[in-house]
Amino acid sequence: MTKDALAYIGLGSNLNDPVVQVTYALEALGEIEGISILETSQFYTSPAMGGPADQSDYVNAVAALKTVLSPRNLLQKLQLLERLQGRTRGPRWGPRIIDLDILLYGDRIIDEKDFQVPHSCLHQRAFVLIPLFEIAPDLIMPNHGKLSRLVDSLDSDELQLVRN
Ligand code: AMP
Repeated sequence: MTKDALAYIGLGSNLNDPVVQVTYALEALGEIEGISILETSQFYTSPAMGGPADQSDYVNAVAALKTVLSPRNLLQKLQLLERLQGRTRGPRWGPRIIDLDILLYGDRIIDEKDFQVPHSCLHQRAFVLIPLFEIAPDLIMPNHGKLSRLVDSLDSDELQLVRN
C-alpha cells in the first residue's frame, strides 16, 4: 500500500473566465481517485509575465492535497485534467485555460529532463509563493528552506486578491 504524501499544486488561468476555470479545476482535482484536497488558498490575480504581449491577467491559487499517487502519476493526472479542460499547447508563457503544476511533493526532490520537483520556478514567483504561504506559513521546502524567507524577499506588489 502506498503511503499518503502531502503535495502542493499550483493552478493558473488567463483565458475563458479564469476564476471559473480555476474553480472547476479544483473541483475536478478533488474528484480524482487517490487525491483528497486538504486546503485551498484564496484566488490571486496578477499581470501575465513574459510571453506574447497583451495577454489578460492571470488568476492563481494553490491547493494542498493528500495523495497516494506517485509524483509521475500525479503529473499524468494533472496533464489529463488540463487536456479535458480544453488546454492546447501554445507558445511558452502564452495564454492558457488552465495550468496545473506540482509545486512540492512531500520532501521529494526530482530532477528529470521533463519533470522537476520542487517546481523549477517555485522560488521566483509571487503568484505561487504568496498563496502557498497563505495555507502553509511554516513550510520548509527541499532545496529552498523556509518559505517565509522567500516570501520576505519578494518585491512584487502586483499580486491582488480576487474579491468575490
Ligand atoms: P507548462 O507550460 O507550465 O504547463 O509546462 C508543462 C511542462 O512542464 C510539461 O512538459 C511537464 O512535463 C513539465 N514539468 C516539469 N516539472 C513539472 C512540475 N513539477 N509540474 C508540472 N509540470 C512540470
